[in-house]
Amino acid sequence: MTTTRSETGTGENLAETFSQYVPSIEARDIVTIKERYGLLIGGEERQPRDGGSLTTIEPSSGEPLAEIAEAGKADVDDAVTAARAAFEGGWRDLSPRVRAKYVFRLARLIQDRARELAVLESIDGGKPIRESRDIDIPLSAAHFFYHAGWADKLEYAMPGMRVEPLGVVGQIIPWNFPLLMAAWKLAPALACGNTVVLKPAETTSLTALLLGEIVQEADFPPGVLNIVTGAGATGAALVAHGGVDKIAFTGSTGVGKMIGRQLAGTGTRLTLELGGKGAHVVFDDAALDQAIEGIVDGIFFNQGHVCCAGSRLLVQEGIAETLLGRLKRRMDLLRVGDPLDKNTDVGAINSHAQLQRIEEYVGGAASEGCEIHQPDAELPERGFWFLPTLVTGLGGSERIAREEVFGPVLTVQSFRTEAEAVAKANATSYGLSGGVWTEKGSRILWMSQRMKAGVIWANSFNQFDAASPFGGVRESGFGREGGRQGLEEYLRLEPVHS
Ligand code: NAP
Ligand code: MG
Repeated sequence: MTTTRSETGTGENLAETFSQYVPSIEARDIVTIKERYGLLIGGEERQPRDGGSLTTIEPSSGEPLAEIAEAGKADVDDAVTAARAAFEGGWRDLSPRVRAKYVFRLARLIQDRARELAVLESIDGGKPIRESRDIDIPLSAAHFFYHAGWADKLEYAMPGMRVEPLGVVGQIIPWNFPLLMAAWKLAPALACGNTVVLKPAETTSLTALLLGEIVQEADFPPGVLNIVTGAGATGAALVAHGGVDKIAFTGSTGVGKMIGRQLAGTGTRLTLELGGKGAHVVFDDAALDQAIEGIVDGIFFNQGHVCCAGSRLLVQEGIAETLLGRLKRRMDLLRVGDPLDKNTDVGAINSHAQLQRIEEYVGGAASEGCEIHQPDAELPERGFWFLPTLVTGLGGSERIAREEVFGPVLTVQSFRTEAEAVAKANATSYGLSGGVWTEKGSRILWMSQRMKAGVIWANSFNQFDAASPFGGVRESGFGREGGRQGLEEYLRLEPVHS
């Protein structure tokens, strides 16, 4: 701001007016990004034994942000050892009421530092500040609050069972909701009395590391949470370690399947939250304005980097033309650009590699004969960007119709009858999410009983609640996060016979 003022020589008032157009400069000031980040092991920040590091990039500029430590096998072993020591050295035997206090304190500290976390999340990951501020960070705090409340009520939640924590859990998370996915994993694990080794995604480790600092501030005993940053090899080392009682993985179906094969028969517990190809079904009696908002949110929220995105629009034939016309006009209004501008709707693509993947899918669809529609908008010159995109003229067998793009790209197909809608919705190997828009309650029930997905939203989309179990079927994985069901994933339950 100082530069702007002296350059224009116009004094305070204009500078203030101008600041409305460049909110990013002020927002950046509230976070401190270190040049180099270490690992969190046994309550201390440590450099990896072999000194390896990776550069994390800011998606909206393509420029380096910081160096993060790359944990090798020896560091992973140190982290597991620290977690084991913390588990056996007291965390396991702590009164559940005291454990709850730690988790409540963590939830409150996340709220206290919400602005800082939101800005850092948007800088590091590229998502619009409106989303990190209003969704990612508040939902993360809510997840800790919710699970803190369970810590001393586990015996009531599982009547007739002896309830024990599993021990040390290894948790591996993706880059699309870095803090929120950490919260989904950590909150139930800690509330149930486990200790953790967390592996954030390579491109988005900064908010997890800040969360590590907050956990220290909350005075958790050393070793209850350990963080090993790094690339895929670090995650692989955690899975291969053999000294953890459970692996909880959220990420791609390909890596999830590999982990499943590796752990089969070892006795290590496993949950897999994998990819998706959600169908968003709109019937001709739907409230169209609301449905269009739901479709836009379903696929363009978080640049479409959403496992449960409504990435396949299925629209009933009679309204297809009207709906598409209105959807295109709505897409023209979406603002793509600076993640730190509070008016931005669609931010930066998380990494150059992901941008290339999206470009390949859309390029492939065009060469397979599909029509591609994008709003007529300019993109920033630097950084990683992709315009909101509609793909029409599909037969259903194209790669883009079957595989997860994980970007702001919506395929569109039409259907005539409910049965055809169900058949098309289920024509995928995934089964994470789906949406149905209709005024008929009976049709919602009929559809949701037949659509193969872990969660179906009716006349809404992308609604999340810590009390509601989330997870997939088929190649979208197994296990649930959230609700009472999510607690069971972190407990050893033995029937009590008296
Ligand atoms: P990914 O490549 O599978 O990576 C996920 C995590 O696993 C990252 O931390 C990654 O580290 C690590 N990893 C990579 N290779 C590994 C290996 N061989 N062994 C152990 N860990 C390994 O997935 P992503 O691209 O980050 O995330 C996008 C995917 O996650 C999408 O498919 C999306 O649908 C899915 N997702 C699912 C849910 C859900 O709840 N079902 C939620 C969010 C996302 P690096 O980052 O260093 O490679
Ligand atoms: Mg980054």
